[in-house]
Amino acid sequence: MKLRDIAIGANASIYYRMDFTKIKGVFYPRTEDEVLGAIATAREKGYDVTPKGGGSGLSGACTGGDRDRVMISSLRMREILSVSKDQGFVDVQPGATPDEINALLASSKMKFYVTPSSRDVATVGGMVNTDAGGNDAWVNGTMRDNVVRIKMVLYDGRRISIDRDGVRSGDSELEAALNGANMGIHDLSGAHGTLGFVTELRLAIRPITRETLVGGLAEYNSCDELGRVLFRMIESKSPIRYGEAVVSAHPDVRGDLKPPMLILEYPESYESELRQITDIRKLSDSELATLKDIRLKLPKRNPKTGLQMALFEDYGFFGKSLTKMQRGVDKIDSLLEKHGFTPFAKYGHAPSKWYLGDNTPAYGIIMHSREIRPETKTKAQIFEAVLDIVRMCERMGITPKPEHKWPYSDKIKLARLQELRGIIGGGFNAFLLQPNCNEVLSSMV
Ligand SMILES: Cc1cc2nc3c(=O)[nH]c(=O)nc-3n(C[C@H](O)[C@H](O)[C@H](O)COP(=O)(O)OP(=O)(O)OC[C@H]3O[C@@H](n4cnc5c(N)ncnc54)[C@H](O)[C@@H]3O)c2cc1C
Repeated sequence: MKLRDIAIGANASIYYRMDFTKIKGVFYPRTEDEVLGAIATAREKGYDVTPKGGGSGLSGACTGGDRDRVMISSLRMREILSVSKDQGFVDVQPGATPDEINALLASSKMKFYVTPSSRDVATVGGMVNTDAGGNDAWVNGTMRDNVVRIKMVLYDGRRISIDRDGVRSGDSELEAALNGANMGIHDLSGAHGTLGFVTELRLAIRPITRETLVGGLAEYNSCDELGRVLFRMIESKSPIRYGEAVVSAHPDVRGDLKPPMLILEYPESYESELRQITDIRKLSDSELATLKDIRLKLPKRNPKTGLQMALFEDYGFFGKSLTKMQRGVDKIDSLLEKHGFTPFAKYGHAPSKWYLGDNTPAYGIIMHSREIRPETKTKAQIFEAVLDIVRMCERMGITPKPEHKWPYSDKIKLARLQELRGIIGGGFNAFLLQPNCNEVLSSMV
């Protein structure tokens, strides 16, 4: 494997230029002891540690930034250690992907219900560190709702285990300090590898449901209409099992799509109630499969001229911003155009659930946005456009999950990570907490 592959991996983010001479070692441990060995090597030389899973994270965190660092990959730690069907959990190493876990569980008719679109490459260790969720997060929650226990090793070699009752460690002082600070699974969720290396996870699994689902398509005249329907679905706790919105699409890739629209899958018995919230056209199985496929491929297609990019991956419309979605989308588009980008596609899980930096749940749409990259912009100009978008979203109350707001602009999450690092110690992914983090990211565009 090339150094470039480990540093960047499947990263679809805009951060892919870096000084590879700063990577002082790459480790592929198979066991916790081997992880401890790799960390000890970094510690002896004073290097940072960057944990790496599938590299599909979008915040730039999994690159390690600009520090002298050792990369520790979990890609050889993908064993399913044990399955307890009766107690509803599976113990896995951090490098396993949801697809691998669910392939193994299929014969026991159980499922791990967190399946992001990147489920074939994203690892559960990386997913807890970004608090990933799939297009059914609305009903099944995000990683933090589905993780029962996390084992982690720290920069100084100590081990901790975190579950819903708190923290356990062989070091009683550390245990007391972390429990005194109320450390829990929610702190690891979205920590971006800044606290330690996750070596094992206990994940909740549940029987595969047998309900009959049907597919439907709802089209709207404006994003406000779409937002209002989502608002009502959330209010009435609609049992939507799969929900994807296509908010807009460039003529080069739009085909027959008529966004704004919702592609839904729901229990057959719910249909008449759903029709009181929105007009919907029932889809045949093959129509549903085709629409799901088109949605999945939107981020993979390019316009006839130019290349698409994800300037700022996620916009979280919830609460009031959901009912004024058209205004939000128009403002985003005009800001993009002001910076020289042409809007390409906007789509996302809807209705969806995610968590804000203070751990409160948010319900709405996680809207991904893709733009056509202007040829002439410098990396500093591109990054300035990103910051401009973050500032504007902040003003409009459009708040995505911390991965996409960035830990460093999400002051509550940042303060919490710093508080915990005050107890645990630093050493992991320190560039994210440096005051010049934005400068570093800007240099990597
Ligand atoms: C095409 C595509 C589709 C996507 N779809 C979704 C989606 O539907 N929902 C969603 O939520 N996200 C989605 N994402 C984002 C991404 O897949 C998720 O954030 C995923 O959780 C990252 O997992 P990973 O293994 O690739 O982690 P990486 O990118 O390798 O790392 C992510 C973070 O976790 C840390 N980390 C990794 N492993 C460990 C470990 N063992 N211990 C401690 N820290 C660790 C890294 O340092 C980094 O900070 C998508 C990304 C792509 C490219």
